[in-house]
Amino acid sequence: MIIQIKENIAESQTEALAATCEGVVVKSASAILVVTPSAMKAHDPRFDNIIEKCWAMDSDIQLASRKFMPETRKISIGKFTSGTAQTLLTIGPCGVEGEEMLEESAKLIVESGLTSIRAGAFKPRTSPYSFQGMGEEGLKLLAKMRDKYGLSVVTEVRDSTHVQLVLDYADVIQIGAKAMYDHGILRACGRSQKPILLKRGFGTTLQEFVQAAEFILSGGNPNLMLCERGIRTFETKSRFTLDLCGAAYLKENTNLPVVLDPSHAMGYGYGVPDLARACMAMGVDGLLIEVHPNPLVAKSDASQQLNHESFRKLFESLKPIAAAVGRSIV
Ligand code: PEP
Ligand code: MN
Repeated sequence: MIIQIKENIAESQTEALAATCEGVVVKSASAILVVTPSAMKAHDPRFDNIIEKCWAMDSDIQLASRKFMPETRKISIGKFTSGTAQTLLTIGPCGVEGEEMLEESAKLIVESGLTSIRAGAFKPRTSPYSFQGMGEEGLKLLAKMRDKYGLSVVTEVRDSTHVQLVLDYADVIQIGAKAMYDHGILRACGRSQKPILLKRGFGTTLQEFVQAAEFILSGGNPNLMLCERGIRTFETKSRFTLDLCGAAYLKENTNLPVVLDPSHAMGYGYGVPDLARACMAMGVDGLLIEVHPNPLVAKSDASQQLNHESFRKLFESLKPIAAAVGRSIV
Protein backbone atom coordinates (compact mmCIF):
# COMPACT_ATOMS: atom_id res chain seq x y z
CA MET A 1 0.00 0.00 0.00
CA ILE A 2 1.22 3.51 -0.77
CA ILE A 3 0.23 6.13 1.79
CA GLN A 4 0.67 9.81 0.98
CA ILE A 5 1.24 11.97 4.05
CA LYS A 6 -0.41 15.40 4.33
CA GLU A 7 1.80 18.47 4.05
CA ASN A 8 3.51 19.94 7.12
CA ILE A 9 3.28 16.82 9.24
CA ALA A 10 6.03 16.29 11.83
CA GLU A 11 8.58 13.70 10.73
CA SER A 12 8.08 11.83 14.01
CA GLN A 13 4.40 11.20 13.12
CA THR A 14 5.32 9.84 9.70
CA GLU A 15 7.95 7.63 11.33
CA ALA A 16 5.38 6.42 13.87
CA LEU A 17 2.99 5.42 11.08
CA ALA A 18 5.80 3.67 9.15
CA ALA A 19 6.83 1.77 12.29
CA THR A 20 3.35 0.29 12.73
CA CYS A 21 3.26 -1.21 9.23
CA GLU A 22 6.89 -2.02 8.26
CA GLY A 23 6.66 0.92 5.88
CA VAL A 24 9.48 2.58 3.96
CA VAL A 25 9.39 6.39 4.04
CA VAL A 26 10.02 7.87 0.59
CA LYS A 27 10.66 11.61 0.41
CA SER A 28 10.47 13.57 -2.80
CA ALA A 29 10.07 17.23 -3.70
CA SER A 30 6.35 16.73 -4.33
CA ALA A 31 5.27 14.36 -1.55
CA ILE A 32 6.16 12.21 1.42
CA LEU A 33 5.04 8.62 1.04
CA VAL A 34 5.04 5.56 3.24
CA VAL A 35 5.19 2.35 1.21
CA THR A 36 4.14 -0.78 3.09
CA PRO A 37 4.15 -4.44 2.02
CA SER A 38 1.42 -4.82 -0.61
CA ALA A 39 -0.36 -7.39 1.58
CA MET A 40 -1.60 -4.44 3.66
CA LYS A 41 -4.89 -3.22 2.18
CA ALA A 42 -6.15 -0.63 4.68
CA HIS A 43 -4.41 1.86 6.97
CA ASP A 44 -4.74 2.16 10.72
CA PRO A 45 -7.56 4.69 11.37
CA ARG A 46 -5.52 6.21 14.22
CA PHE A 47 -3.45 7.91 11.54
CA ASP A 48 -6.42 9.35 9.57
CA ASN A 49 -5.43 12.90 10.49
CA ILE A 50 -2.00 12.72 8.84
CA ILE A 51 -2.99 10.81 5.69
CA GLU A 52 -3.78 12.58 2.42
CA LYS A 53 -4.42 9.59 0.15
CA CYS A 54 -3.88 5.80 -0.05
CA TRP A 55 -3.39 3.34 -2.89
CA ALA A 56 -3.98 -0.36 -2.11
CA MET A 57 -1.72 -2.34 -4.45
CA ASP A 58 -2.01 -5.93 -5.59
CA SER A 59 1.72 -6.73 -5.62
CA ASP A 60 5.03 -5.20 -4.60
CA ILE A 61 5.16 -3.45 -7.95
CA GLN A 62 4.05 -0.24 -6.26
CA LEU A 63 5.87 3.05 -6.99
CA ALA A 64 6.54 1.74 -10.50
CA SER A 65 2.87 0.95 -11.11
CA ARG A 66 0.57 2.97 -13.33
CA LYS A 67 -2.11 2.42 -10.68
CA PHE A 68 -0.10 4.79 -8.48
CA MET A 69 1.21 7.15 -11.19
CA PRO A 70 -0.66 6.81 -14.49
CA GLU A 71 1.76 8.88 -16.60
CA THR A 72 5.17 7.67 -17.76
CA ARG A 73 7.84 9.37 -15.67
CA LYS A 74 9.52 12.38 -17.21
CA ILE A 75 13.28 11.97 -17.02
CA SER A 76 15.59 14.48 -18.65
CA ILE A 77 18.87 13.46 -20.22
CA GLY A 78 20.30 16.41 -22.14
CA LYS A 79 17.81 17.23 -24.92
CA PHE A 80 15.83 14.05 -24.30
CA THR A 81 12.79 13.75 -22.03
CA SER A 82 11.12 10.39 -21.45
CA GLY A 83 7.36 10.01 -21.46
CA THR A 84 7.08 12.26 -24.53
CA ALA A 85 7.16 11.52 -28.27
CA GLN A 86 10.96 11.29 -28.17
CA THR A 87 12.96 8.08 -28.41
CA LEU A 88 16.52 8.16 -27.06
CA LEU A 89 18.77 6.25 -29.42
CA THR A 90 21.90 5.68 -27.37
CA ILE A 91 24.81 4.10 -29.21
CA GLY A 92 28.50 3.47 -28.78
CA PRO A 93 30.95 0.64 -28.33
CA CYS A 94 30.42 -2.03 -25.70
CA GLY A 95 33.49 -0.78 -23.84
CA VAL A 96 35.77 2.23 -23.86
CA GLU A 97 38.98 0.85 -25.39
CA GLY A 98 40.94 4.04 -26.02
CA GLU A 99 40.62 7.68 -26.99
CA GLU A 100 40.82 7.30 -30.74
CA MET A 101 38.02 4.75 -31.07
CA LEU A 102 35.82 6.65 -28.61
CA GLU A 103 36.33 9.86 -30.56
CA GLU A 104 35.37 8.10 -33.79
CA SER A 105 32.20 6.91 -32.03
CA ALA A 106 31.45 10.42 -30.76
CA LYS A 107 31.84 11.83 -34.26
CA LEU A 108 29.37 9.28 -35.66
CA ILE A 109 26.87 10.22 -32.95
CA VAL A 110 27.21 13.94 -33.62
CA GLU A 111 27.01 13.41 -37.40
CA SER A 112 23.77 11.45 -36.88
CA GLY A 113 22.27 14.26 -34.78
CA LEU A 114 22.09 12.04 -31.69
CA THR A 115 22.73 13.31 -28.17
CA SER A 116 24.28 10.58 -26.02
CA ILE A 117 27.22 8.20 -26.03
CA ARG A 118 27.07 4.83 -24.31
CA ALA A 119 30.12 2.75 -23.44
CA GLY A 120 31.31 0.80 -20.42
CA ALA A 121 34.42 1.72 -18.44
CA PHE A 122 33.81 -1.07 -15.93
CA LYS A 123 32.89 -4.24 -17.82
CA PRO A 124 31.12 -7.08 -15.94
CA ARG A 125 32.65 -10.00 -17.83
CA THR A 126 31.83 -13.67 -17.57
CA SER A 127 35.55 -14.54 -17.35
CA PRO A 128 38.16 -12.85 -15.15
CA TYR A 129 40.70 -13.30 -17.96
CA SER A 130 38.90 -11.15 -20.53
CA PHE A 131 38.97 -7.33 -20.89
CA GLN A 132 37.53 -5.78 -17.72
CA GLY A 133 37.36 -2.20 -18.98
CA MET A 134 39.62 0.82 -18.53
CA GLY A 135 38.10 1.89 -15.20
CA GLU A 136 38.49 5.54 -14.21
CA GLU A 137 40.68 6.24 -17.24
CA GLY A 138 37.71 5.19 -19.40
CA LEU A 139 35.36 7.42 -17.43
CA LYS A 140 37.72 10.36 -18.03
CA LEU A 141 37.66 9.69 -21.77
CA LEU A 142 33.85 9.62 -21.73
CA ALA A 143 33.80 12.93 -19.84
CA LYS A 144 36.15 14.34 -22.47
CA MET A 145 33.63 13.41 -25.20
CA ARG A 146 30.86 15.11 -23.23
CA ASP A 147 32.92 18.28 -22.92
CA LYS A 148 34.07 18.28 -26.53
CA TYR A 149 30.84 17.20 -28.27
CA GLY A 150 28.09 18.08 -25.77
CA LEU A 151 26.98 14.43 -25.47
CA SER A 152 25.32 12.87 -22.43
CA VAL A 153 27.33 9.96 -21.06
CA VAL A 154 25.68 6.61 -20.34
CA THR A 155 28.01 4.18 -18.58
CA GLU A 156 27.71 1.24 -16.23
CA VAL A 157 28.61 0.34 -12.66
CA ARG A 158 30.00 -3.15 -12.17
CA ASP A 159 29.94 -3.39 -8.39
CA SER A 160 29.00 -1.31 -5.37
CA THR A 161 32.60 -0.23 -4.62
CA HIS A 162 32.74 2.29 -7.45
CA VAL A 163 29.18 3.64 -7.68
CA GLN A 164 30.27 7.08 -6.44
CA LEU A 165 33.12 7.21 -8.94
CA VAL A 166 30.77 6.45 -11.85
CA LEU A 167 28.21 8.94 -10.49
CA ASP A 168 30.91 11.62 -10.57
CA TYR A 169 31.44 11.18 -14.32
CA ALA A 170 28.19 9.87 -15.85
CA ASP A 171 24.91 11.49 -16.84
CA VAL A 172 23.11 8.13 -16.80
CA ILE A 173 24.18 5.15 -14.70
CA GLN A 174 23.60 1.78 -16.31
CA ILE A 175 23.12 -1.18 -14.00
CA GLY A 176 23.95 -4.27 -16.05
CA ALA A 177 21.99 -7.49 -16.25
CA LYS A 178 24.38 -9.33 -13.93
CA ALA A 179 24.26 -6.48 -11.40
CA MET A 180 20.45 -6.22 -11.31
CA TYR A 181 20.30 -8.11 -8.01
CA ASP A 182 23.18 -6.23 -6.35
CA HIS A 183 21.51 -4.46 -3.46
CA GLY A 184 24.60 -2.37 -2.73
CA ILE A 185 24.34 -0.90 -6.23
CA LEU A 186 20.55 -0.58 -6.15
CA ARG A 187 20.56 1.24 -2.80
CA ALA A 188 23.47 3.52 -3.75
CA CYS A 189 21.64 4.47 -6.98
CA GLY A 190 18.47 5.06 -4.94
CA ARG A 191 20.31 7.68 -2.87
CA SER A 192 21.28 9.63 -6.00
CA GLN A 193 19.07 11.72 -8.28
CA LYS A 194 20.98 10.78 -11.45
CA PRO A 195 19.00 8.95 -14.15
CA ILE A 196 19.46 5.19 -13.85
CA LEU A 197 19.12 2.63 -16.64
CA LEU A 198 18.34 -0.69 -14.97
CA LYS A 199 18.84 -3.73 -17.19
CA ARG A 200 16.81 -6.86 -16.67
CA GLY A 201 18.74 -9.85 -15.33
CA PHE A 202 18.61 -12.56 -17.98
CA GLY A 203 17.09 -15.07 -15.57
CA THR A 204 14.57 -12.80 -13.90
CA THR A 205 10.82 -12.60 -14.20
CA LEU A 206 9.20 -9.26 -14.93
CA GLN A 207 7.95 -9.19 -11.32
CA GLU A 208 11.51 -9.62 -9.99
CA PHE A 209 12.83 -7.04 -12.44
CA VAL A 210 10.35 -4.36 -11.39
CA GLN A 211 10.83 -5.21 -7.71
CA ALA A 212 14.57 -4.52 -8.19
CA ALA A 213 13.49 -1.18 -9.67
CA GLU A 214 11.42 -0.55 -6.53
CA PHE A 215 14.66 -0.53 -4.45
CA ILE A 216 15.82 2.50 -6.44
CA LEU A 217 12.45 4.26 -6.41
CA SER A 218 11.84 3.64 -2.70
CA GLY A 219 15.41 4.81 -1.99
CA GLY A 220 14.28 8.23 -3.22
CA ASN A 221 15.43 8.31 -6.86
CA PRO A 222 12.46 8.71 -9.25
CA ASN A 223 14.70 8.98 -12.34
CA LEU A 224 14.68 5.39 -13.46
CA MET A 225 14.35 3.63 -16.81
CA LEU A 226 14.00 -0.09 -17.46
CA CYS A 227 15.94 -1.93 -20.15
CA GLU A 228 14.92 -5.26 -21.64
CA ARG A 229 18.09 -6.83 -23.10
CA GLY A 230 17.14 -10.44 -23.69
CA ILE A 231 16.44 -13.33 -21.36
CA ARG A 232 17.82 -16.85 -21.32
CA THR A 233 15.52 -19.42 -22.88
CA PHE A 234 16.04 -22.94 -24.27
CA GLU A 235 17.20 -21.35 -27.52
CA THR A 236 20.92 -21.41 -28.28
CA LYS A 237 21.06 -20.02 -31.83
CA SER A 238 20.79 -16.46 -30.55
CA ARG A 239 22.69 -15.23 -27.46
CA PHE A 240 19.45 -14.46 -25.59
CA THR A 241 15.78 -14.01 -26.52
CA LEU A 242 14.53 -10.43 -26.71
CA ASP A 243 11.34 -10.38 -24.67
CA LEU A 244 9.14 -7.96 -26.59
CA CYS A 245 6.07 -9.35 -24.79
CA GLY A 246 7.79 -8.33 -21.58
CA ALA A 247 8.42 -4.86 -23.00
CA ALA A 248 4.70 -4.59 -23.84
CA TYR A 249 3.88 -5.62 -20.26
CA LEU A 250 6.22 -2.99 -18.82
CA LYS A 251 4.80 -0.27 -21.09
CA GLU A 252 1.24 -1.13 -20.13
CA ASN A 253 1.67 -1.63 -16.40
CA THR A 254 4.56 0.50 -15.21
CA ASN A 255 5.20 4.23 -15.23
CA LEU A 256 8.89 3.69 -16.01
CA PRO A 257 10.30 4.55 -19.44
CA VAL A 258 11.21 1.40 -21.39
CA VAL A 259 14.45 1.01 -23.33
CA LEU A 260 15.15 -1.94 -25.61
CA ASP A 261 18.58 -3.41 -26.31
CA PRO A 262 18.55 -5.67 -29.37
CA SER A 263 22.37 -5.95 -29.46
CA HIS A 264 22.89 -8.00 -26.30
CA ALA A 265 19.77 -10.04 -27.00
CA MET A 266 20.78 -11.18 -30.48
CA GLY A 267 24.49 -11.44 -29.87
CA TYR A 268 25.19 -11.31 -33.60
CA GLY A 269 25.35 -8.16 -35.68
CA TYR A 270 23.37 -9.71 -38.56
CA GLY A 271 20.09 -9.70 -36.60
CA VAL A 272 20.44 -6.36 -34.88
CA PRO A 273 19.04 -4.05 -37.63
CA ASP A 274 15.83 -6.09 -38.02
CA LEU A 275 15.33 -6.26 -34.27
CA ALA A 276 16.09 -2.55 -33.85
CA ARG A 277 13.38 -1.74 -36.40
CA ALA A 278 10.91 -3.96 -34.54
CA CYS A 279 11.85 -2.20 -31.28
CA MET A 280 11.36 1.23 -32.80
CA ALA A 281 7.94 0.15 -34.11
CA MET A 282 6.93 -0.60 -30.50
CA GLY A 283 7.16 3.11 -29.72
CA VAL A 284 9.50 2.76 -26.76
CA ASP A 285 11.31 5.54 -24.91
CA GLY A 286 14.75 4.32 -25.81
CA LEU A 287 16.88 2.04 -27.91
CA LEU A 288 20.42 0.91 -27.08
CA ILE A 289 22.60 -0.32 -29.91
CA GLU A 290 26.26 -1.29 -29.75
CA VAL A 291 28.32 0.29 -32.53
CA HIS A 292 32.10 0.03 -32.86
CA PRO A 293 34.47 1.59 -35.44
CA ASN A 294 35.91 -1.87 -36.09
CA PRO A 295 33.87 -4.67 -34.45
CA LEU A 296 36.35 -7.31 -35.61
CA VAL A 297 38.91 -6.08 -33.08
CA ALA A 298 36.48 -5.12 -30.28
CA LYS A 299 37.68 -6.24 -26.85
CA SER A 300 34.17 -7.23 -25.72
CA ASP A 301 30.93 -8.22 -27.47
CA ALA A 302 32.70 -8.20 -30.84
CA SER A 303 30.17 -10.37 -32.69
CA GLN A 304 27.15 -8.17 -31.98
CA GLN A 305 28.50 -4.68 -32.61
CA LEU A 306 27.59 -2.88 -35.84
CA ASN A 307 30.24 -1.03 -37.79
CA HIS A 308 29.63 2.62 -38.62
CA GLU A 309 28.47 1.97 -42.15
CA SER A 310 25.88 -0.59 -41.01
CA PHE A 311 24.71 1.81 -38.32
CA ARG A 312 24.26 4.66 -40.80
CA LYS A 313 22.14 2.39 -42.99
CA LEU A 314 20.09 1.20 -40.02
CA PHE A 315 19.60 4.75 -38.77
CA GLU A 316 18.12 5.86 -42.13
CA SER A 317 15.67 2.96 -41.98
CA LEU A 318 14.66 3.80 -38.39
CA LYS A 319 13.56 7.35 -39.26
CA PRO A 320 10.37 6.47 -41.22
CA ILE A 321 9.45 3.85 -38.60
CA ALA A 322 9.80 6.41 -35.82
CA ALA A 323 7.68 8.85 -37.84
CA ALA A 324 5.03 6.18 -38.45
CA VAL A 325 4.60 5.66 -34.70
CA GLY A 326 4.69 9.41 -34.04
CA ARG A 327 8.14 9.63 -32.52
CA SER A 328 11.30 11.62 -33.06
CA ILE A 329 14.75 10.17 -32.48
CA VAL A 330 17.21 12.04 -30.24
C1 PEP B 1 26.52 -3.85 -21.90
O1 PEP B 1 25.55 -3.07 -21.99
O2 PEP B 1 27.58 -3.70 -22.53
C2 PEP B 1 26.34 -5.05 -21.05
C3 PEP B 1 27.34 -5.60 -20.39
O3 PEP B 1 25.06 -5.48 -21.06
P1 PEP B 1 24.29 -6.54 -20.14
O4 PEP B 1 24.50 -6.07 -18.72
O5 PEP B 1 22.89 -6.41 -20.60
O6 PEP B 1 24.89 -7.88 -20.40
MN1 MN C 1 28.17 -5.10 -24.41
